[in-house]
Amino acid sequence: MENAKYILVRYGELGTKGKNRNNFIRTLSSNIHNCLRKFNLKIITTHDHIYINITDVEDYSEIIELLKDISGIRSFSIVYKVSEDLEELSGFCRDFCKTKDGKTFKIECRRIDKSYPYRSMEVINKVAGKILSSTDLKVDVHNPDITLNIQIKQDGIFVFFDTILGAGGYPLGTGGKALMMLSGGIDSPVAAYLMMKRGIQLEFIHFASPPYTQDAVIDKLKDICHELNKFQPVIKLHIVPFTKIQEEIYKNTNESYCITIMRRRMYEIASKYAEQNHLLAICNGESIGQVASQTLNSMDVIDPMSTLPVIRPLAVMDKLEIINLAQKINTYEISIRPFEDCCTIFKPKNPKTMPKLEEVLIYESKVDYAKLVDDAVYGIETIKIEEEKFEI
Ligand code: ATP
Ligand code: MG
Repeated sequence: MENAKYILVRYGELGTKGKNRNNFIRTLSSNIHNCLRKFNLKIITTHDHIYINITDVEDYSEIIELLKDISGIRSFSIVYKVSEDLEELSGFCRDFCKTKDGKTFKIECRRIDKSYPYRSMEVINKVAGKILSSTDLKVDVHNPDITLNIQIKQDGIFVFFDTILGAGGYPLGTGGKALMMLSGGIDSPVAAYLMMKRGIQLEFIHFASPPYTQDAVIDKLKDICHELNKFQPVIKLHIVPFTKIQEEIYKNTNESYCITIMRRRMYEIASKYAEQNHLLAICNGESIGQVASQTLNSMDVIDPMSTLPVIRPLAVMDKLEIINLAQKINTYEISIRPFEDCCTIFKPKNPKTMPKLEEVLIYESKVDYAKLVDDAVYGIETIKIEEEKFEI
């Protein structure tokens, strides 16, 4: 068929965003351009839709897979632009239906451009008549094998069969920037994905305690970030030298309070770094009740160390739901590679599930943590992880 062929992209929740709508559309359009740049396609952005011209593309399966991961897209369809002449339009629809397996069909028509001379019902009758008179297809309005959609719009008439669901959410970059605590376990990459889906651009922070933790952890984190590059093409991973702080904690704290005090330092360092770099929140993979440091009592004692809001996208999810999402975004297999994390190495036998702030403060008074925290922030090293480059 020589008609022009497009992928019609429908916007997600941005429709409800009033004044911000233009910014959302601009950002989504630029994210799509960026993601599909190696295909060198013509992309047209309008107030209602984005059209990606694929007339000359034979195999567009990779394009479809890429679009499924771009947040801010509600759904999309492969559409043909057809003639406004009703006779030609009907002929096209008949030939188009012949390309699809099935015995029954139904037509849905939306006449958005009211200046088009024929009403929706007239279009449906004419097209259905053409199909019935020159194919073996029968009408079934309740359970059809083929649903043919006709949309009559100001910028043309478009015909398509299926609608493919997009990732939903908001376009990446429309929600500001935040700092994600990345541990190398199953949870934090999933939390990162959910934040990105909400339009939040992320930087990552990891607390490393060599020689107790191995360099292999960093390779693992890079692999995780590479998977997340699907949703955010450039990722900064900040590595905090955490050994000295951990050693001081374990020398000067009753074992059962070590995790509480360690996590207070993590929050302190993360929020300090985030503030210095104009990031608006810190986020992590905590889930209420999952481990001792994630009870509401523990959070109450740990949380105030952050000067920024702490967002926990997994707060109320159970482990199975989290694992399902980890598999969906391909980070699960990387996360379960065995490794030693700073939390696992110094893991106390009986961590406090109900730590008391007064006790925490007594242990903390034995060490000059303010200086150690400043040193740690100063010693941060940053790795940049980008999607694989390709020749244009
Ligand atoms: P995950 O599965 O993501 O590793 P977890 O089940 O191991 O989480 P915790 O160790 O209690 O749980 O950590 C809770 C959250 O704290 C993690 O999801 C992550 O966001 C953050 N976190 C833990 N350890 C580190 C670390 N070494 N560096 C950065 N963030 C960390
Ligand atoms: Mg966890």
